[in-house]
This record gives sequence, C-alpha cells and structure tokens, in this order.
Amino acid sequence: MATHAQPEVWFLTGSQGMYGEDTLRQVAEQSRQIAAALDASPHVPVRVVWKPVLTTSADILEVCRDAAVRGAIGVIAWMHTFSPAKMWIGGLDALRTPLLHLHTQANVRLPWDEIDMDFMNLNQAAHGDREFGYVQTRLGVARKTVAGHVSDPRVAARVGAWARAAVGWSAMRSLRLARFGDNMRDVAVTEGDKVEAELRFGVSVNTYGVNDLVRVVDEVAEAEVDDVVKEYDDTCRVPAELRVGGERHDSLRYAARLEIGLRTFLDAGGFRAFTTNFEDLGGLRQLPGIAVQRLMADGYGFGGEGDWKTSVLVRTLKAMSVGVDGGTSFMEDYTYDLTPGEELVLGAHMLEICPTIAADVPKVEIHPLSIGGREDPVRLVFDAAPGPAVVLGLADMGERFRLVANEIDVVSPPHPLRRLPVARAVWRPRPSLPGSAEAWITAGAPHHTVLSQAVGVEELHDLAEMSRTELVVIDADTDPRRFADELRWNQAYYRLARGF
Ligand code: MN
Repeated sequence: MATHAQPEVWFLTGSQGMYGEDTLRQVAEQSRQIAAALDASPHVPVRVVWKPVLTTSADILEVCRDAAVRGAIGVIAWMHTFSPAKMWIGGLDALRTPLLHLHTQANVRLPWDEIDMDFMNLNQAAHGDREFGYVQTRLGVARKTVAGHVSDPRVAARVGAWARAAVGWSAMRSLRLARFGDNMRDVAVTEGDKVEAELRFGVSVNTYGVNDLVRVVDEVAEAEVDDVVKEYDDTCRVPAELRVGGERHDSLRYAARLEIGLRTFLDAGGFRAFTTNFEDLGGLRQLPGIAVQRLMADGYGFGGEGDWKTSVLVRTLKAMSVGVDGGTSFMEDYTYDLTPGEELVLGAHMLEICPTIAADVPKVEIHPLSIGGREDPVRLVFDAAPGPAVVLGLADMGERFRLVANEIDVVSPPHPLRRLPVARAVWRPRPSLPGSAEAWITAGAPHHTVLSQAVGVEELHDLAEMSRTELVVIDADTDPRRFADELRWNQAYYRLARGF
C-alpha cells in the first residue's frame, strides 16, 4: 500500500479533571507514548494517531463523530485515570468506525518501594477500563478488547490483527463489484441478497452485459498488448508455442487483450472486484484465465460463475493482508484423496487461481476447456506453497449471512500432477478431512471459498465482529456434535439479535 494512502486509526484516551492539571499532563504524556509504541510496532500495519485527552462528553461525542468523517478506519480507546464512562455514552452511540478497547497501563512493573497515592490515582486503568467495559456492554457496542502492556509483542500482534480487519472492513464498505452476467444457472449457493449485502457490508454489486466488456476488450491497442505479452515473458515461464513466432502466439495476445480490457473496464468504473460466468461469454473468444489470475494478484476480488459473495471476500482478505507475507486466492474444493488417515483436498478451479499463493514461478499454458464453448484459454499453472492457511466461505442463509472458516495446512502434492492443466492447492484440513467436511457441510457453507496464507482466524473474528456477522470456525479442536450445537445456538441468537 502506498505510504500516502496508509490508513490511520485514532488513539483516544479517557480521563477526568478530578486530580488536577498536573495529572492530566502526565496522562497526555503517557498516552502519547503508548500511541507512539503502537504506531512504531511492526505488528501494526496502520498509522496510530494520538488525539488529545478526553474529559468531557461533548469532546468525546465530537471526536467519535469526526473519526468516520475524517477517514479514520477505527479508534483505539484507553481509560487512563478513572474515567467515568457515562461521559462516553453519546460518543459510543455515535461511533461509526470499529473500536478496539486497549486495557493497558503506562508502567509494566509496580514501583513497590515508592508507590504512593499519587501513583495509585494516576494509574487506575485497572478499574477505569472496567467501568468503560460496562458501558460498552450495556450499549451493545461491537468491539475487540485487548489486555496487556503494549511492549508485549502478543498485545501488539492482537492490535495488528484488529487493524488489518479494520483495513478490510474499510475496503469492503467502499467496494464496488461488477458482475459480467448472472450466476451459473441452477446453482443455489452463489445466489444472495444484494440489498442486504449493501446494508450489512457496504458493498455495491451490479451486473453488466458481458458485451459491454467485449467492446472494451476489442478496442485495446496492439501496442498495449505488446507490453503485457512482454510482462508475461518477464514474470512467468512461457512455452515456445505461445511466444512471438509460435504457432499459438495469437491466443496469448488475445489473453493479454482480455486482461487489459478487464482492467480498463474495472478501473473506469471504480470496481475492485468482479465475477464472470462461463455460460455467458458473449463475444469473448476465451474464458478469461490468466487475465483473472493476474488481476487477483494485483488485489482485485474475483468469483467464478457469478459468485459475487466470494469475490467480495477475496478483495476484502487481500486488503487485510497488508503488512504480512502470503497470498490470497479464489478457491474451490475440487476433489479428494480419501486414503484413510492421509486424506487430502485438491483445490482448484477451471482456471482462476491467484499466483500470489504459488510455490514457484508459474507456467503459462494453453489447453482446451470442455465448458464455455470458446477457444482454448491461456492460464497460469502452479502448485500452491505449503504452510498453514485458512479457507473462508460466505453463505446467504435467507435472513442473514454466515461466514465459515477452516484452518488448513497446505502441503506439497504427494505426487507430481503432470497432466493437470490448472493451478491448484493440496491441503489437509483441520481437524481432519472427514471432520472438516462434515462440519462445513452441516453449516451449509459454500464450495467456493477464499484461501489465504496471510490472514488468520483472529483477523476473521475481528472482521466478523465489525460487520456483526456470524462466523463459525472449524479447527483442530472441532467436535462435530458440539459444532452442530453451536450452529443451533447461533441460529437462535442471530434471530433474536435481529429484533422484530
Ligand atoms: Mn466454481
């Protein structure tokens, strides 16, 4: 992310005037240091901007309103001296950005030999923050609570996870998504309520005729195609048949033209996510393969078969991966190895897997595609890098959305996949393939997902809290019966929480 655009969170400090100006000066100085420590932490991928100490309800209301208006993606609040929390009711009620309650204090160790009542009165977040917690809970404020000293890397890491979720939430709130055509016919899980999605997530989803895209693709200049073809040569392994002078070079040129046309269309409309549908290709000569793959690598969200919900997730998790290593891709559970005790998922899609998750330099290949009825599409082929990752799906349950995440371990394929002409990931889901699949299916979670090596369950929890969306997690501790119970309890909770 460019430095000038680095998002900021505001650091708010609550206090009160009871102990005089001298104490308030110390509060200001200490809270500046805490904010500066978070700002400087490599775990926190946003700017942390200190704001003057708050001691009146009018000032608190003003800063809480300002946060959203002036572009802060979240606020961190700390009650330094005992800060009476009724002052915060109006502000918290008006707050429209994510909130992290940092329960900390200026000192790590108590000065046991010197401690006196002045020290006690200055450093009483231990109960000031509990007072603040009461009001937040009473008002039902969505937030994350993090306790500990900011010099503890675990504290900074938890604040960082929240900050990444806030970056994702901000990206989601302003996301515009273009669909080329509708959903694949007769498929249920890729459907969804676009009005509810705009209300809940802020994302605007609209459909365009695929021939609107075809016009842009056909107008791309040959010189631009030359440039992108050269990029393919520079960044991937391109076989002789697709190179300049090769017998199928024209197919590579058309794939590059598709990429440029798609990018032009999306950028002109301010779209950071999109979908395609192989059943509705209009005048496109190929199903977009390498074009979609490289756009995803540049941070665009994508979903196949008109799946706008998964496209939203891909874009959001890409935004959340700021400051951490690892890629993020559209994914689909494709087929299994069911060898007892060694079960594996082979995940892929027809073409559209993002090369940010690749273990090695991708190969450019061209092969026939049995669906879509167009010319052979060009695609990038690779294996995903091994390591821990998460897959996340979003289902529309009719009255609300449900997020389902599964912690997985991507592995190197146990055998080379010489005849498989698509990019793929092989993984062992936690707790096991049967345990994961039974829970996933019980939850009604989708077959399209986003796979991320960069974002973990903590960030997803924080995002779910910000968007007040159910998230169920399948991990090493998942027990199928307890999981089914959790779904039932959640069902009741979310129905009640919705009100009448
Ligand atoms: Mn699919």
